[in-house]
Amino acid sequence: MDNCSKQEILDRRYLDMARIWAQNSYCKRRKVGALLVKDKMIISDGYNGTPSGFPNVCEDENGITHPYVLHAEANAITKVAQSNNSSAGSTLYVTASPCMECSKLIIQAGITRVVFSEMYRLNDGLKLLESVGIETVWIPEENAGEHTAETSCASGCSCVSPSCAESKSSADNDASSLPFTPPVC
Ligand SMILES: [Zn+2]
Repeated sequence: MDNCSKQEILDRRYLDMARIWAQNSYCKRRKVGALLVKDKMIISDGYNGTPSGFPNVCEDENGITHPYVLHAEANAITKVAQSNNSSAGSTLYVTASPCMECSKLIIQAGITRVVFSEMYRLNDGLKLLESVGIETVWIPEENAGEHTAETSCASGCSCVSPSCAESKSSADNDASSLPFTPPVC
């Protein structure tokens, strides 16, 4: 199998971007980021947080998450609902595997593929997605960036992307190689 397929490189880079996007979250317990990609365009984004008009505080004084906090996936899906884009046929990139509630939204939004990096403690949401034929792809975080993933660009890879070539010769993790250049494989 070609470990350096164009799709896999794109998946890893979009996941890297979702991970960066998660940093926007004001939530302290957990920061999750999501991107909706369709026809190689990012059509929406989200991170976990409170609804519009609420203070940007996710947890109560005991550190318990407020029940009205929206998950990153829900924010990405509801954001696209306010736009002229359609989520039908899109891919959702999310830093943590979707919960049951978000999985229901994912199905109804017509999303056909879900790529995630961190396995949530409950996998009933993933099972729901798979039961209706939505493709789910798990790329664990330690393998998500090319610079930490020897498997992605190492042995036998014919990839000529500059960042892939760089990752073969260098293991450093500088910002210049973060995921904003298109792969050229
Ligand atoms: Zn959720």
